[in-house]
Amino acid sequence: MNFLELAETFAMMEKTTSRLELTDHLVSILKKTPTDIIDKLVYLIQGKLGPDYESSDLGIADKLIIKSLSLVSGHSPAYIQNKYSDIGDLGEVAYNILTNKIQTTLIHQLLTIEYLFETLLKIANTSGTGSLDVKLRFIVSLLNNSSNLEAKFIVKLILGNLRLGIANFTLLDAISLTFTGEKKNRRILERAYNVSSDLGKIALILSKGSIEDIQSISISLFIPIRPMLAERVSNPSEALEKINGDALAEFKIDGERIQIHKKGKKIELFTRSLENVTSNFPDILSALDEIETKDLIAEGEVVAIDPATKKYLPFQALMRRRRKYNIQQITLDYPVILNLFDLLYYNGLDKTHVPLSERRRLLEEIFSTQKTGDKIILIDQIKVSRIDEIENYTEKALKNGCEGIMVKNPNSQYRAGAREWAWMKLKKEYSGEVTDSVDLVIVGALHGKGRRVGKYGALLLATYDAERDVFCTICKVGTGFTDNVLIDITDKLNMHVIKHKHSRVESGNTKMDTWFEPKIVLEILSPEITLSPVYTTAINRIKSGYGLALRFPKFTGKIREDKSAEDATTVKDIFEIYRSQLK
Ligand code: AMP
Repeated sequence: MNFLELAETFAMMEKTTSRLELTDHLVSILKKTPTDIIDKLVYLIQGKLGPDYESSDLGIADKLIIKSLSLVSGHSPAYIQNKYSDIGDLGEVAYNILTNKIQTTLIHQLLTIEYLFETLLKIANTSGTGSLDVKLRFIVSLLNNSSNLEAKFIVKLILGNLRLGIANFTLLDAISLTFTGEKKNRRILERAYNVSSDLGKIALILSKGSIEDIQSISISLFIPIRPMLAERVSNPSEALEKINGDALAEFKIDGERIQIHKKGKKIELFTRSLENVTSNFPDILSALDEIETKDLIAEGEVVAIDPATKKYLPFQALMRRRRKYNIQQITLDYPVILNLFDLLYYNGLDKTHVPLSERRRLLEEIFSTQKTGDKIILIDQIKVSRIDEIENYTEKALKNGCEGIMVKNPNSQYRAGAREWAWMKLKKEYSGEVTDSVDLVIVGALHGKGRRVGKYGALLLATYDAERDVFCTICKVGTGFTDNVLIDITDKLNMHVIKHKHSRVESGNTKMDTWFEPKIVLEILSPEITLSPVYTTAINRIKSGYGLALRFPKFTGKIREDKSAEDATTVKDIFEIYRSQLK
């Protein structure tokens, strides 16, 4: 199949912000695609070269693309750089400067999806001395064999900025419609996706087999499972109401969630967003190595501790571990411990269907006999059934440097990727003293003025509407940014600039200078939620024409690198906080 067909589809998708139209375009390209390359097509649509948990970073900087475009077009690198400064996107530059190329090339060999995919893989896998030259040659040969439309999307794929606004939900809808004729099977596909984190594989299996084959996809070692998530409650009685009988309360630690996969000596660690971070935690790896089990998949929170007092340190301290170099030294400077809270797989068996209380018992059994020292502990947990017990336990958790507590249903299964009432987070706010923070995704910005010229001034933030899979605006924030952090955020945002408002963002009449793909999540504090005619979070739910807004929002300084846009605070959360404010 020729890449041109996909490039033409991309071009049409770029022009629409309607989710229905996006789905239609996806269905028609999926229908045209030969079965044996369905997975590759899906990965390319996702802007990747493999499942979610495999990095799709090809390690190509703008400079190399400029050099390639110069070689292919005959224009000088300076000319291309100028164009880039004008247009702001190298894919568009390629489209622009290569316009006449096809007419002047007599024999144009059509580029196939298979060939493009294999070449991109080779680019990704080339490393070591001389690798830049090899990569350059691959890129030049791809561009030489493509029309300007194809070149535009090849450059975007290579730089990882396809930005078509396609959510996984939309892709699942399209896969379901294409191969089963109905959208309603999306639920079944979604479950398979939650345990396999691989949309390409799901599309491939479904295109060759049936929905029963999808139902039999189960969790496997070394394939990260999309994590179970918690609902937010605003007071202990609300938590108890949701659980019939005793509940389990646990410390809620402000670290980084890690999913551990271990079979014999082989160990891999994944973050909540499925990134493989095995090499960041050599100390945790050696402790895990001591565990003598055939295999396991477990989850826990890694947290930095103060070596002197052994108290938990805030999340920022942990982020220092996110370095590529000098890991051994950083390990000593910033010690961490792992607090385990769940077990998903053990001794060859899927444990996600076993009640939480039994999963905890198994964890206790495994760890009571192991020599993991104080590097790995089980998360602090107690049984609770009364409001005062929860209150006292929250106080204890806060004193220990926790964010709050988790209240869990002891009879609940582990439901991958689901946010349900089986797990509830109870943060500081209900005590009435400290206002809780929320995590919001940046969707737009106004240009900075005065000291902030060249950076972004105010950022438009949004909540996540999980039911409809869209983002709803809630406030603009301009305070709480130090100059350095603002530079950092501006750099990060520049990777996600899009031409118009993102198709999944609902922003009413709000006008912005720049729009972004919803990617970067910030932690925000605000003393109050109010009704507002400007923002779209929970619009019309309380009063016609009004949504909810944060008053006096302030950035805490914490970029939630561990959260994806879909992990942002939900519309439902905000609605609940607003309601609890009124009580
Ligand atoms: P939040 O990030 O506020 O949505 O809260 C959910 C996150 O809390 C999880 O993804 C974990 O990273 C973290 N967490 C901390 N302690 C626990 C715990 N005891 N059980 C489950 N998750 C926890």
